[in-house]
Amino acid sequence: MASPDVIDPRDQTPESLLSWAETIGVEAVSVRRLLSALLTRGIHDPAEWGHRFHVPRRMTDRFRMMPRLHLEKSVTSSRDGFQKLLFRLHDGLAVETVLIPLHKPGAVSVCLSSQVGCAMACDFCATARMTSRRNLATWEIIDQWMQAREVAWSQGRRVTGAVFMGMGEPFLNYDRVLAAAELLRCSYGGAVAAKGITISTVGLVPEIDRFTDENRRFRLSISLGSAIDETRAKLVPVAARTPVRDLMAAARRHADARGGRVMLSYVCISGVNCSEDDARAIGELVGSTPVRFDLIEVTDPTGRYQPPGEAELRAFRDSLSRHLGQPVVRRYSGGADIQAACGTLAG
Ligand code: SF4
Repeated sequence: MASPDVIDPRDQTPESLLSWAETIGVEAVSVRRLLSALLTRGIHDPAEWGHRFHVPRRMTDRFRMMPRLHLEKSVTSSRDGFQKLLFRLHDGLAVETVLIPLHKPGAVSVCLSSQVGCAMACDFCATARMTSRRNLATWEIIDQWMQAREVAWSQGRRVTGAVFMGMGEPFLNYDRVLAAAELLRCSYGGAVAAKGITISTVGLVPEIDRFTDENRRFRLSISLGSAIDETRAKLVPVAARTPVRDLMAAARRHADARGGRVMLSYVCISGVNCSEDDARAIGELVGSTPVRFDLIEVTDPTGRYQPPGEAELRAFRDSLSRHLGQPVVRRYSGGADIQAACGTLAG
């Protein structure tokens, strides 16, 4: 990935930086010092890397000016403390990033965007309705995380995780997303545990297989939409071009290779995918594949899709537990009052 010319270290992987350093005759320890200064401590000034961390000039002279995203707006939910950050990009487009409070006091995870807009056209999703579309560069993903962490630090909180569940389908921007995840995971970089980094997909089978074959240690979350192809075609039309059985086969391959449960997430929509038939279809589809099944209530700012009421959701969860015989978890999708919930990010 890296060439001997001028680079931005936030656009590399730890491995590509190491091989680049070799080509310019710099030792691996300098790469570790650089990433530690930049990502662990959040210091952006190359002069300071040299002065305080002994990163050689031969290296820092080849770093491109590192632009930052412009943090234009920040809004915090009065209900649950979710905080949404709006970043303006150099080309005038915008992305959103969300700070998610975790159960552990003071700990937060960062929900990252991977694209501006999204081509997957999920029917319940605000991002899908945006017209502008492009992939984010690795540095744009990393800078979301770093600036979110600076906000968290200023509030006395600490960032312990990252989830690629913001704007965009991460697997449509596979290389840059995985490069960012590796920089975040690297022990002398972001130092986030691999199991604290989740990559979500609405179901791109070739990329799920690639992720499995590459033995990436991050968590994978597959969003199902429905176990019934006709319903799925309405809710997640692009992903549904691949039959749900093929998607489940890829999920099974991932579970087999990993030797654990594969995470399936399910956006619950009243009157659409929460019936006894839906639960039965999920049970038949999943079969003996070990899964953890997360239920998320839909948040559709247009009001077209409604989340199930308490009774409908409880009945669905009960019948799902019966048909599935595996853990079913109700996951909280917070920040609904500030349009920070799943499917509501629209820049
Ligand atoms: S739900 Fe995710 S994959 Fe689907 S359109 Fe929205 S951002 Fe894209």
